[in-house]
Amino acid sequence: MKQTTRKMAANKRIALVAHDNKKADLLAWANEKAEQLKFHHLFATGTTGTLLSKKVGLPVKCLLSGPMGGDQQLGALIAEGEIDVMIFFWDPLNAVPHDPDVKALLRLAAVWNIPCATNKSSANFLMNSEFMNNEYEIEVPDYAGYLAERTQ
Ligand code: PGA
Repeated sequence: MKQTTRKMAANKRIALVAHDNKKADLLAWANEKAEQLKFHHLFATGTTGTLLSKKVGLPVKCLLSGPMGGDQQLGALIAEGEIDVMIFFWDPLNAVPHDPDVKALLRLAAVWNIPCATNKSSANFLMNSEFMNNEYEIEVPDYAGYLAERTQ
């Protein structure tokens, strides 16, 4: 598919997700980065978001819990261009019941070319990027163009 671009605003729509064994790590990381994170719009799966709100005091739009459909809700938001960045501390050492949803979420992040951190150091790299607090032109698949070509 051909590519087009869309503009990300300076304040990003950031999705935050952590599997159970990674929640403490994400909370500690978010606590460190709280001042920076407050500049952005935060979205999270249900349990992660509730913890971020209660323990770190961040305003977060909470979706359903990941295993109950929250990963798929996030994937849908990514596909609709409603999420700019994802920080997903997934657990590489334990099986989760919603593994297909996890794969689907990571897949859609790749399809729609959004910056995606899967651990603390990549999250730090993202937060320290000059693009995080500035507008950024992101390349995305030109779905509208594809549809126009396929249906004429
Ligand atoms: P949770 O979901 O934040 O509701 O625990 C995370 C996930 O497993 O995707």
